[in-house]
Amino acid sequence: MGNLEKKLEQFKLGLRKLPLENRYQKLNVPKALPKVKTGDFKKAQMGDVTLSKCRRLADSHEEAPLNRFGRTHSYVWRNEFLYRNFKVINGEVEDTTLQLVVPKAYRQFVMKMAHESILGGHQGARKTKHKILSDFYWPGCQADITRFCRSCDVCQRTVPKGRVGKLPLGTMPLIETPFQRVAIDIVGPIQPKTDRNNRYILTIVDYATRYPEAVALPSIETTRVAEALITVFSRVGVPREVLTDQGTQFTSDLMREVGRLYLCVNLRLPLPSCLQWVGRTV
Ligand SMILES: [Zn+2]
Repeated sequence: MGNLEKKLEQFKLGLRKLPLENRYQKLNVPKALPKVKTGDFKKAQMGDVTLSKCRRLADSHEEAPLNRFGRTHSYVWRNEFLYRNFKVINGEVEDTTLQLVVPKAYRQFVMKMAHESILGGHQGARKTKHKILSDFYWPGCQADITRFCRSCDVCQRTVPKGRVGKLPLGTMPLIETPFQRVAIDIVGPIQPKTDRNNRYILTIVDYATRYPEAVALPSIETTRVAEALITVFSRVGVPREVLTDQGTQFTSDLMREVGRLYLCVNLRLPLPSCLQWVGRTV
């Protein structure tokens, strides 16, 4: 049996051991739209006072005058349902969309489906409007949809507020000597872990030559990362600068640990105090 087949077999065995509900992550699906009866919907369309103008226009077969964007609309009855016939005229091309007119009682449901369902995905007001208007319409729908999206609890909790201004990119002097400036990064945690329980990869890239080094690590305590760094530095030499985008706390702890290790092992290398740690994205 090949190595890959063996791994696949192990994976399958592991999967079988898991209880069924843990195998797949459950999707968080909001309550679906209650079943809409066509009769009720028709009745609501007929009785809704906010739609009285639409009904009147449908009965009189009136078409709204063409606006400056080349758009016009009219209301029509189809199978006793009230629709809005939205037209965009662009030269010779005429594009029509038939929108079901939604009575007040069903508007929340339509907006909920368009914004909160799995396919809705809590998109912004503009996209939600686009989605709804491709099939539905009601007077004042644009303002209603904007209000609905702005007051959505999930969106308010998760959508980032404001943007942090970006600093202009600076230029870095070219380094010609190998291993004078290196960039380190930690990738992980990676699932599943390896046979040796490694879950992280410490990567070290030399700026001058782009030579990469990678060390597999089971965890990323400062001691462990420092030891891994020392192993690499002992082979290629101690860099003058180490760039990393890891947190400042982690970086300074790591720096201290590297220093401690250097003094302990008493290698004939420059003291790490001459290392310069820069918390910057590489
Ligand atoms: Zn939302």
